[in-house]
Amino acid sequence: MSFQDAYLWLLNEFEDLQIVDAHEHLPPEKYRISRYVDVFTLFSHYTLTDLITAGLPENLLTNFGDFNRVLNPSLPLEERWRIFKPYYNASKHTSYFRAARIALKEFYGVEDLTDENYLEASKRVKEANKPGLYRRVLREKCHIKAVLTQIGRIPEEDRDLLIPILPMRLLTDLSNLRDLEARGLKPNVDISSLEDYLSHVRFKMESWKRDGVVGLKFLARQTADVSKEKADKMFKMLLKNEPADPKPLNDFLVNETVKTASELNMVISVHTGILAGNWEDFSTTNPMYMIPMLRRHRNAKFDLYHAGIPWVRELGVIGKTFPNVWLNLCWCHVISQEITCSALSEWVDLMPVTKIIGFGGDYSIPVEKIYGHLVMAKEDVAEVLARRISKGLMKRSEALEIARMWFYENPVELYGLRLN
Ligand SMILES: [Zn+2]
Repeated sequence: MSFQDAYLWLLNEFEDLQIVDAHEHLPPEKYRISRYVDVFTLFSHYTLTDLITAGLPENLLTNFGDFNRVLNPSLPLEERWRIFKPYYNASKHTSYFRAARIALKEFYGVEDLTDENYLEASKRVKEANKPGLYRRVLREKCHIKAVLTQIGRIPEEDRDLLIPILPMRLLTDLSNLRDLEARGLKPNVDISSLEDYLSHVRFKMESWKRDGVVGLKFLARQTADVSKEKADKMFKMLLKNEPADPKPLNDFLVNETVKTASELNMVISVHTGILAGNWEDFSTTNPMYMIPMLRRHRNAKFDLYHAGIPWVRELGVIGKTFPNVWLNLCWCHVISQEITCSALSEWVDLMPVTKIIGFGGDYSIPVEKIYGHLVMAKEDVAEVLARRISKGLMKRSEALEIARMWFYENPVELYGLRLN
């Protein structure tokens, strides 16, 4: 079978695939539909990175929190379009923009933004911003069964769709007495020793688990194996509010939290590689920094995110070497389809297909782009598998089975999801 025939056959078969979206920052729907939106909302979030790199002045942006900066909505729409247009034209061929433009076309009938259509497109985005938006985009268009979401708290609504993962730093990052107090803990009354604090960590994790939290998010970094004696000493200094380098204590707490997570069968989801936005030093999140931790915690389950871009090959060898590691392609397809295809193609050489997770949109407010991202993810998976079919290395039925694992079964299995 030719590559082209296999590719088209797979894409057609993928139309009705059930999806577990293995990483988003989606809040409950009410947060999106209560917001002012227009066509520029579709170009908030990741696409802003490319606009800023193209030259869009950052002082024209308004911050709505999280990842949701937009071109200042208090300016008239005409003015915003005039500012936006040259940078849009410079950036519209990136993968970030492709996801936005697929969404723009599918939901609002506009292929490419121009002087003639930006007002009409804005009107359509506004009109569609009403209850049922998540159902229309996520359930009906994307066939998404569940979304693993990270919003820093347990979502108060839409729990039939949204499954939470919480930041590990809520338990681990202690720099001074105020951090303890911010967690509702009183030094010397509630917490008078490191042991007390570790009991608090376990209590918290058990209660999160009961509330449906399936994992803890960690940002890849270098960590050391710190002794209990040293951590005890550091904790005593913290209780007395004596200044000290917080890293040894935090490394100790990270290791203890990972141990507890493995006992409670909660996954450690790890951001590796590229950081969102402009000006970030992504050399600090090199996936190679995870190796000591992976060797230390052999019973834990680590879901390594973002293909460690640009260290995709290093991540593939990590995926091959460590039985406690899964590799998750969330965010990857919209960073670069070419990088993702080459990485995934090498990973199939390197590691078992049961250890790869194929999709996570990684968006928050511009939910329509999840559809754009999913279209691109399906293209990438079809491309990698069709190449194998065309070389006679894999049967069509095997390729389809593997795609089902990557888009659904592997995240269900890893996170122990109970979906009906
Ligand atoms: Zn994310």
